[in-house]
This record gives sequence, structure tokens and C-alpha cells, in this order.
Amino acid sequence: MTLSGTYYAASSSRALEVSVRLEADGTLYIESPEFNRVELMRTCPLSDPLGRMARHFTLPDGARLEITDVTALAAWEQSCGKRTGMHFVHGLESRWRWVGAAVLFLLVFMAVGYIWGLPFAAKRIAMRLPPKIGAVATDQARAIFTRLFDFEPSKLSAERRQKIEQQFQTMAAVMEPGNQRNYRLEFFAALFPNAFALPDGLVCITDELIEEAKDDKEIYGVLAHEIVHVREQHGLRSVLQNSAVFLIWTLMTGDISTVAGLGSALPAMLAESGYSRGFEEEADLGAAAYMIQAGWGTKPLADILQRIDPEHAHLGDVGEALSTHPLTEKRVQALTDYEKTHPAPAP
Ligand SMILES: [Zn+2]
Repeated sequence: MTLSGTYYAASSSRALEVSVRLEADGTLYIESPEFNRVELMRTCPLSDPLGRMARHFTLPDGARLEITDVTALAAWEQSCGKRTGMHFVHGLESRWRWVGAAVLFLLVFMAVGYIWGLPFAAKRIAMRLPPKIGAVATDQARAIFTRLFDFEPSKLSAERRQKIEQQFQTMAAVMEPGNQRNYRLEFFAALFPNAFALPDGLVCITDELIEEAKDDKEIYGVLAHEIVHVREQHGLRSVLQNSAVFLIWTLMTGDISTVAGLGSALPAMLAESGYSRGFEEEADLGAAAYMIQAGWGTKPLADILQRIDPEHAHLGDVGEALSTHPLTEKRVQALTDYEKTHPAPAP
């Protein structure tokens, strides 16, 4: 069998086009107008096949002989029974089944990373961020919220606010013992009942939510829910998780212009991306744990969740969670179930 090849002498990088003759007895003839060489193939190791890449013989004196027609070479190898014809790597690449399996593995790997790895990393990072970052994010998000929701100063009496704030501080101290956060409560007048938490411990509540409550325990239930959002840093975790997806997408698509805007977009993301279902559940159950311990049971929180009209509470945290009725029902059910399995300690 005769193939064309490229010959590189050991001492030179000059490429010479040659004709290569492979004999069944294992002799290799390299022929060109300039020179002829004869070698025994067993003294000239041949590189392994790798896809469509050229293969080469290494001659005893270090010269190299490159063969680009790898298909013909493989056919010749097979016909001589010199090799199995296909090496592992080559076979792997030629079989779409393996490619399919590799793609599937990659997808599963990415999904696992997305579902478990990313939230895990986001939590670890959020919990270790310097407090200054939470404070800056809080200030900016507060400004955005105020503008977005047309917040005005609260019209509640100072006495009323003081009472609620006092209970809020008591709960924060019990729910996150020894915390270094700046837990504080701010009251606003708005168009709808709402409450939300920001990373450094600022919780905002509207007069309208307070007025909806038939019992102060309902307000405290909502505040307990918000304290869990702060304690577990759900806000920063959401932002980190969302921006990681955003960042990976940007790396994949190569559109770098979006990354530059990310820093300034953080507060907006904090303000606009509602919490995930999982975070809401964690906040509800954390609140339930406190309420059961306080001897109130979970009913006050369930009651106010059901009372607030989802039509009006269309923005922000509580509003977000209430935007669909089935979700409210699920949350109320989860609260009831939690209480059944976590009864109050005997007095
Ligand atoms: Zn919430």
C-alpha cells in the first residue's frame, strides 16, 4: 500500500513530500526524488489515532514521518491485523453513543451544580461577606423601594410604633442570639400592606399591613418571617445565585457588556427578584418555630396571610408570596403541619 506523507529530518524542520510504501512484511519504504529510506516498522513507533488528526512514525534517528490520510492508514493496519484498528480514544470519539453519554453527563453535572452547588456556594459567600456590603446594598435597595412603592412617612403614632419595634427587637434577639446585625424596623405609609427585609437587618413594614392585622401577633408573625430572611441572608443569597447564572450565561455567550452593569444592578435585583419558594418556606417555618415557642401557635401568621388581598399586595415580599392563591393555601397548610409535628413545650 502506498500513501503520501510528509518527512521531517531529525536535524531540520523542512518538510519534504514523500511517498510511503507499507509492506505486509513490516517494511517501510520512504521514497522521494531526493532520497530513499527503508526501515523496519517495528523500530518506528506510530502515534495513536486521535480523531482526524495526522499520525506520525518516529524513525530510529529521530526523523518524523507524518501521514494525513489516517483512514487509509487505519484500513491498512486492520488488513494486516497489526492492530485492532481502533484505539480506545479513537473509538470513543467515533461513537455518537459515547458523545451522547458525555453530553448527558455534562448536563446532569450542570443541573446538580445549579440546584445544589450554586445555592450552597451562595450561602457560604453571603454568610461571610463583610457587613459593609450588606449595609451598602441595604441603603441602595431601600432607596429603590421607597421610590418604587411611593413610600411616605408612617402615620402611626410614635407609641404604636414603639410597641411594635420593641417586640421586633425582642424577637430578633431570641431568633438570632448574639447577632452582630443592625436589626431595626422602619414604618412607611404605602398603598398596600407589605413588609420586607434587607440584608443588614433593616425590616420595613407598611401602616397598611399593621392596620390589616386583627391582633398584634399577626404583625409579629410577619416580622418573625422577615427576621428569618435576614438571619439566613436570603436577599444576598438570591442576588448571588441569580448573578452567578447571569455571569455564567455571559461567559458562555461572550457578551461582556452585561457584566459591567452588574455591580450597579445588584440593588435593583435585590429589590425586584422575589425570594424563591424555598426561602419563603424557610422563613415561614422559622417564624412558626418562634410563634409556637412564644405560645401563640402559627394561626396568627396563617390568618394574616389569608386576609391580605393578593390583588393589592402585588409588590414586594409578602405581596410576591401572595400573588397566587394556591401558594397561600400551601403556606397555610405548611404552617399547620409544622405546628402538628412541633408542639409547644409543656409549660
Ligand atoms: Zn418572605
